[in-house]
Amino acid sequence: MQGLKTQLHNLVKLQTVDTEIYMLKREKDAVPDQINAIDAAFEQRKQRLSEFDKAALELQKQKKDAELDLGSKEASAKKLQGQLYQLKTNKEYQTMLQQIQGTKADASVVEDKILNLMDQIDAAKVALEKEKQVLQQEEKVFIEQKNKLQARVKEIDDRLCVLEASRTQIMPGIEPRLLPQYQRILENRDGLAIVSIRNSCCGGCNMNMPPQVINLIRMYERIITCEVCNRILYLEDDQIS
Ligand SMILES: [Zn+2]
Repeated sequence: MQGLKTQLHNLVKLQTVDTEIYMLKREKDAVPDQINAIDAAFEQRKQRLSEFDKAALELQKQKKDAELDLGSKEASAKKLQGQLYQLKTNKEYQTMLQQIQGTKADASVVEDKILNLMDQIDAAKVALEKEKQVLQQEEKVFIEQKNKLQARVKEIDDRLCVLEASRTQIMPGIEPRLLPQYQRILENRDGLAIVSIRNSCCGGCNMNMPPQVINLIRMYERIITCEVCNRILYLEDDQIS
């Protein structure tokens, strides 16, 4: 097996691959929620359409009720009209005539109400049609968004295959006992296990590193980790000799 310096170099290579794997997996993991959100938004839109539908039906129902009301008022006016000539006294006749006029006036009010409802029903139908068209457009957009996400997942899967192959190539250049340590830090530290020291600071947590830590790294006798974030440290400018 190569010296520690070369192995650290290989770990850095592995980290580059793993960083991409980590990012891609995170992106992929977020997709089901994104698809669910799209489905939920579309369901909500459909709900809105059904409310337009309900409003139109309610108006139809009101119109039907008013028509029944009108029918019964007209029937009773007709009935009274038929009885008019059977009456004996002028007083009875006048009273009945007033009653007929009253019923007819009531019927006329209902008639106006029906006309008004017909206008409202027409307007509701137009609104419903418009809403249906808007929803159709939105469904297209929703489907497009979902297709895009699914295509991206496929793209990610393909890339992950390539990255896994790269890992397999790099792995033999690292001592087997180092890998579990690297892997553990990778999992616990947000996908970043090995970091360089920059301006005397840990590239992972920015903690200032004393010169003796840098000297220890440069000795390449053992793996040196950051005391704060536990990540493996390396020196970027130290060329492999
Ligand atoms: Zn650190």
